[in-house]
Amino acid sequence: QTLTQIKQRGKLIVGTEPTFPPFEFVDEKNQVVGFDIDIAMELAKRLGVKLEIVSLPFDSLIPALQQGKIDLAIAGMTITKERAKVVDFSKPYFEANQAIVVRKDSKFEPKKLEDLVGQKVAVQLGTTGDLVVSDITGINVVRFQKFTDAFLELQNGRVDAVVLDEAPAKAYVKKFSKFSISSIVDTGETYGIAVKKGNKELLNFVNQTLDIMKGSGQYNKLLQKWFE
Ligand code: GLN
Repeated sequence: QTLTQIKQRGKLIVGTEPTFPPFEFVDEKNQVVGFDIDIAMELAKRLGVKLEIVSLPFDSLIPALQQGKIDLAIAGMTITKERAKVVDFSKPYFEANQAIVVRKDSKFEPKKLEDLVGQKVAVQLGTTGDLVVSDITGINVVRFQKFTDAFLELQNGRVDAVVLDEAPAKAYVKKFSKFSISSIVDTGETYGIAVKKGNKELLNFVNQTLDIMKGSGQYNKLLQKWFE
């Protein structure tokens, strides 16, 4: 979709997976909100169009982009070499590492990924958390489409840990006092906004908007709004 086509259509269609607070999650009013959503709103505003948020499983976002069902994927998505073969990424807009979350009462305190060998570990299907635990032989990986379901399994004792990005891990631990972060795994990831491969016009627009938001202080205001 060219910018002209998006303007003619009157809406920017953004795909996300809303169990990833504070980037995207469903609030009390049943609205998808968060840091990424505010960026999406700014992009739509600058195009003079409405914003349509489409909630999809995380591993469906790239196929949806490829099929032209969504214009952008804004989903705390890590820029990886594999993904960059099939979609184009904006400049990095956030830094991330993985976190291991356990139940406080479990006495299980893994300090590194290898400590998860022999344990049941929940992840979100197709995420970098899924990749890092699946890389280690001997971890019993249980994959969910929603982090909310992964944490339900942890709460019920059906898994021993959840591995996910640090910022959402902190958000879940803050919300549910039963959980704690037993360690941070330094993966040095950065998030990017994904567009369909080859859509330079839209990609340039996204990059320019990110630059403007950073330069004007609006980006920092969003950090304060969602991360304190
Ligand atoms: N940053 C992780 C990834 O890209 C997780 C993203 C997510 O679950 N929304 O795989």
